Amino acid sequence: MPGHMSMEEVYRHACELIPGGVSSPVRAFGSVGGTPVFLQAASGAHVLAVDGRRYVDLVCSWGPALLGHAHPDVVAAVQTAASRGLSFGAPTTAEVELAALIRGRVPFAEKVRFVSTGTEATMTAIRVARGATGRDVIVKFAGCYHGHSDALLAAAGSGVATAGLPGSAGVTAASARDTLVVPYNDVAALEAVFAARGAEIACVITEAAPANMGVVPPLPGFNEAIRRITREHGALMVFDEVLTGFRVGPAGWWGVEAGLPNPSYVPDLVTFGKVVGGGMPLAALAGPASLLDLLAPVGPVYQAGTLSGNPLATAAGITTLTLADAGVYARVDRVSAQLQDAVGAALASAGVPHRIQTAGSLFSVFFGEDAAARGVRTYDEAKAAETFRYPPFFHAMLESGVALPPSVFEAWFLSAAHDGAALEQIVNALPKAAAAAASAKA
Ligand SMILES: *Cc1c(COP(=O)(O)O)cnc(C)c1O
Repeated sequence: MPGHMSMEEVYRHACELIPGGVSSPVRAFGSVGGTPVFLQAASGAHVLAVDGRRYVDLVCSWGPALLGHAHPDVVAAVQTAASRGLSFGAPTTAEVELAALIRGRVPFAEKVRFVSTGTEATMTAIRVARGATGRDVIVKFAGCYHGHSDALLAAAGSGVATAGLPGSAGVTAASARDTLVVPYNDVAALEAVFAARGAEIACVITEAAPANMGVVPPLPGFNEAIRRITREHGALMVFDEVLTGFRVGPAGWWGVEAGLPNPSYVPDLVTFGKVVGGGMPLAALAGPASLLDLLAPVGPVYQAGTLSGNPLATAAGITTLTLADAGVYARVDRVSAQLQDAVGAALASAGVPHRIQTAGSLFSVFFGEDAAARGVRTYDEAKAAETFRYPPFFHAMLESGVALPPSVFEAWFLSAAHDGAALEQIVNALPKAAAAAASAKA
């Protein structure tokens, strides 16, 4: 197929067999228009499309490719593991090794349960919280995305935000009723919800630093406030680091914000995904033994998975975490800062009012005077930004060989493989894209 079919033909054929031609809606070009780019390979900072075009990649598989695509050591570890068997359905020492690596970075993660997706990790966290407290209600923040389980789809970010959906069809009224949605960064609203329903609330789940409504970092003290309020009411704090964990620093956003070795707050449960699997399907729920031992087979909260802790996935995770040393994080931080400067300069010289928001090396761009003047603190403010400037910006970058996330509500991801040449290609593409954003019409 590669080289013989146009991207339009590939896409049309895909749409005949697969809803929207994609296995996950964020891959569609719904909000930017045009034809999604089907890929055949990726290496380092680049992806190769089926039509032979090569792009500098700022999606990085939505986070996992911290070391760059197809890092030779990660690929070799997976190949070695594969040669020993693809899946056993029995415990392995690799799982123990990966759990120890996680605990070494995030000390309150005393015990770890491995699953295959971030969705399973957060879904299980909710079940543990309900099992631990005997309460039904959960609180989430508008614009935070925690995967696609029923309880967590209300006012979700990521693809739900991109599609402009209030939630999802197929979620029962009962499930929606048990999920209370509060504006992000709003301590008073969280206190009000606890004042009204505190005795019913099992947990508050939050993205450690939200990056699925664009990057909307917690205001100083916000995560600490969640900790205080949940503790006052006997509810758990579930910290979703599926996106930020091991990406923004060795101990995730928690390590960046709470400060080690004497953290200003400690959540009850934490979820990991994306980087922890190094590009393979692997995610995790972690926390103190007192909570994790509520899970079967020790405790009464049931959870299971045929491919959980799969040997290929654990091999990729172990190798990725082992290689992701301080130098890797420093490098990604540095390239991110350089790129942020270049994006800001290009937009400023094209006269496009904007605000670049960051959470560690993650960042995204919000367009418009309001965003520029005040910043974006909530999902409502994110949606009120001039999102119409993004599609032409995105397509101009794509034409110049730079693949951005196909939605203004997603973070830009860099890797340790984004070198000077990759950065230069991005920087050279920016003026045209900034001009396209400037002339965009609502
Ligand atoms: C990606 C993501 C999830 C869901 O993970 P999947 O592996 O896609 O199921 C959950 N929470 C956050 C914060 C995420 O970014």
